[in-house]
Amino acid sequence: MTDLTSLTLAEARKGLADKTFTSLELTDAHLSAIEKARVLNAFVMETPDRAREMAKAVDEKIARGEGGPLAGIPLGIKDLFATKGVRTTACSKILGNFVPTYESTVTSQLWRDGAVMLGKLNNDEFAMGSANETSCFGPVGNPWRREGSNTTLVPGGSSGGSASAVAALLCMGATATDTGGSIRQPAAFTATVGIKPTYGRCSRWGIVAFASSLDQAGPIARTTRDAAMLLRSMAGHDPKDTTSVDIPVPDYEAAIGQSVKGKRIGIPKEYRLDGMPAEIEKLWSEGAEWLKAAGAELVEVSLPHTKYALPAYYIVAPAEASSNLARYDGVRYGLRESAKNIIELYENTRAEGFGAEVRRRVMIGTYVLSAGYYDAYYLRAQKVRTLIKKDFEDCFARGVDAILTPATPSAAFGIGEKGGADPVEMYLNDIFTVTVNMAGLPGIAVPAGKDAQGLPLGLQLIGRPFDEETLFSLGEVIEQAAGRFTPARWW
Ligand code: GLN
Repeated sequence: MTDLTSLTLAEARKGLADKTFTSLELTDAHLSAIEKARVLNAFVMETPDRAREMAKAVDEKIARGEGGPLAGIPLGIKDLFATKGVRTTACSKILGNFVPTYESTVTSQLWRDGAVMLGKLNNDEFAMGSANETSCFGPVGNPWRREGSNTTLVPGGSSGGSASAVAALLCMGATATDTGGSIRQPAAFTATVGIKPTYGRCSRWGIVAFASSLDQAGPIARTTRDAAMLLRSMAGHDPKDTTSVDIPVPDYEAAIGQSVKGKRIGIPKEYRLDGMPAEIEKLWSEGAEWLKAAGAELVEVSLPHTKYALPAYYIVAPAEASSNLARYDGVRYGLRESAKNIIELYENTRAEGFGAEVRRRVMIGTYVLSAGYYDAYYLRAQKVRTLIKKDFEDCFARGVDAILTPATPSAAFGIGEKGGADPVEMYLNDIFTVTVNMAGLPGIAVPAGKDAQGLPLGLQLIGRPFDEETLFSLGEVIEQAAGRFTPARWW
């Protein structure tokens, strides 16, 4: 039998339906791959017993002809999603050994549809970061390495564990979240497919909050088809999240292979940055040519407020984070440091429990929201956000169906190589992705090529609100043209 871990999710679905193998066999294959790949540090909690139990139960269902759309498919879950009875920490010391008594809506929908949980995946602490280096469980290794080099590279962040695990064939797909790029940037760094759906498409209930007006859940998968299958199960209205939208979830998979003839693809001139590596520039034009060859029409568009997106994001996101993270006070759950009085309890617990990047965000957020500074920073950033959103609306009003951009300004870099002296160096990773969160739009990252050192690079497609389908159709065109990329196993 071929190695079961090398199948795509769609291929595994067929194998399970045809009874070529069972979910238990598929699950066991992935559990043993996880064991052999511990050096990557992608999983922060393995749940083999639960996985086998779920797999056996779903095998019985499949035998009775009752398997759901994801019946028997083993997945990894970002540690930001609350999983009932399974430790959930957001990779922060402050959550300690928190074991939720409830399940997030997104994960409960995956289990409803028959998926199997392999364990919890590493991420940047509270999803703050672009390299998965801020996790209290330590950094994650990217299964990709530069040609001829043994240096371990970052998988991107904050969903670094999700991207690394999917790329290393440790799980068939993973949940992830994206506040400023955390699905798309790690997908680009690992040659996986990641989609951040429209704000409101997935319920945020049971997901540890970072910046509530920007946070969205989405899948990281091996192919666009696999991502479409996962998103269908993850999406949907949830009365427990007032920002989730009550519109039907389409069969995203049906968009795969749909003609893109006549689709108008915007190429935003503001995304052509000074000093952008020539290979990113080349990848971008190649991607545009592939879409054109498939019948799409290319149009130059302008998103004039792009240059303000990153500074505005680094006001809005920390402001919301400082408010969301106020709940970690040592009183109700997680870490509790000893103290003489309640104020000291808060101070000691928060100083001990939060890592340096999280403390920085809380301080920035508190500052920009404080009396006297609110108007100058927070209110202003919100106004800039409206202008960024309007740029996109103007584009779509002119008949543009989707916008093509690079996903990241570079390929993956080495652990510890960036952001040590200047955090802004790290923040710049999200230059192409944050605009999409600020505007609440859907964005997909698809592997499109490699750089001179043999590292994967991705392209991003940005769509109209709730038009994830067009992104899947266009993304698959790029995928077909570029081919699939799998890292050479060194672990
Ligand atoms: N890298 C960005 C940040 O650190 C975005 C993270 C995310 O999307 N969760 O805030």
